[in-house]
Amino acid sequence: MSIYLDYNASAPIDPRVVDLMMDTYRNNIGNADSRTHDFGNNARIIVENARKQVAGLLSVPSEDVFFTSGATESNNIVIQGLREYAEKTGKKHIVTTKIEHKAVLETAKHMERMGFKVDFVSPVQSGRIQTEDVLSLVDDDTLLVSVIHVNNETGSIQPVSEIGCDLEKRKVLFHVDATQSCGKLVEELQNLNYNMLSFSSHKLYGPQGIGALVLKRKNYTLPPVKPIMFGGQQEHGISPGTIPVALVAGFGKACELALSEYKNDECNNLKVRDMLINMLNQSGLQYKINGEIENCIPSTLNVQLEGVSSEALMLSGKEYCGISNGSACTSNSYSPSYVLVAMGMSEDDIDQSIRLSWGRNVDVEGLRNNFEKLLEVAKELV
Ligand code: PMP
Repeated sequence: MSIYLDYNASAPIDPRVVDLMMDTYRNNIGNADSRTHDFGNNARIIVENARKQVAGLLSVPSEDVFFTSGATESNNIVIQGLREYAEKTGKKHIVTTKIEHKAVLETAKHMERMGFKVDFVSPVQSGRIQTEDVLSLVDDDTLLVSVIHVNNETGSIQPVSEIGCDLEKRKVLFHVDATQSCGKLVEELQNLNYNMLSFSSHKLYGPQGIGALVLKRKNYTLPPVKPIMFGGQQEHGISPGTIPVALVAGFGKACELALSEYKNDECNNLKVRDMLINMLNQSGLQYKINGEIENCIPSTLNVQLEGVSSEALMLSGKEYCGISNGSACTSNSYSPSYVLVAMGMSEDDIDQSIRLSWGRNVDVEGLRNNFEKLLEVAKELV
């Protein structure tokens, strides 16, 4: 059986989360906003308990957590939802980076079309954005700075702590897309200065289709983000529509587990990374890691296997390992990864690059055997 090595696209749901969700689906009917019966009240209790669990992982008050359908929605709300404030204040400048997920990148481009000025900061060759390159662009007209915490393709950790410290002093709104770091870089996130933060449950072993937007209150006031969709008053109108109770319960459980297990997960992930690197070293293949390993999360490797087409390897090796080349959201198009392009890599080098990502409950022995076989396939493709 093929081993799944695409956790950054979507991590397998934790069985303990599934159990809780099944129980919730079976035993809790009703709408968390129904006030006329206990079915609704009980659903509301589940939702508010999950909100506390999500807030606990981030060490924020639970009133600052808003459930959304995931990071794509959260990112859209933050960026598009600031339009009214921008019109009022005349601040129409956004600073972001070239290595954001499309959910930020495309939304920022949309804002550009709506008359905003957007600066897209390039990373250096290591895949890291330089703090100064972001901060030097910030001026009195800057509405928002939005920076990804961990890039989904390379696993590279961005200097959001340094950026956040400076922006806090300058009172500039700061949004962090923490989709790939939430549940992993727990302490950094708990101590980070930001105003808005987005993430999805399915990257931290929760269900797909649910996520959160954290809007940090300052002096009891929310950041000036307005709804971009209209309907009911759920989530204070920020994300209207019936709250999916079982998804929310599963998400809460996943956050609770992440808080208690992230150190253990990190330790296991490092062991897997060491094993994969050892195997690459012994394979006889020429390879290069894209990104600075010291600045990457220990559950992602983006590697270039010299002379091996990644498309051919993914196809010929798919019975052994499920891997990707570039963000999963764009893997049905053959344009080279824009993240690796932004890092200055040539198209040939990008064509030979694959992303491996793993995490909790990975079958290490199965992985060892199958990765060995994948490397054999790679050698035949050189
Ligand atoms: N941001 C990042 C960094 C991501 O990796 C992803 C998912 N690949 C998203 C945002 C979007 O998440 P979702 O598809 O769950 O909305």
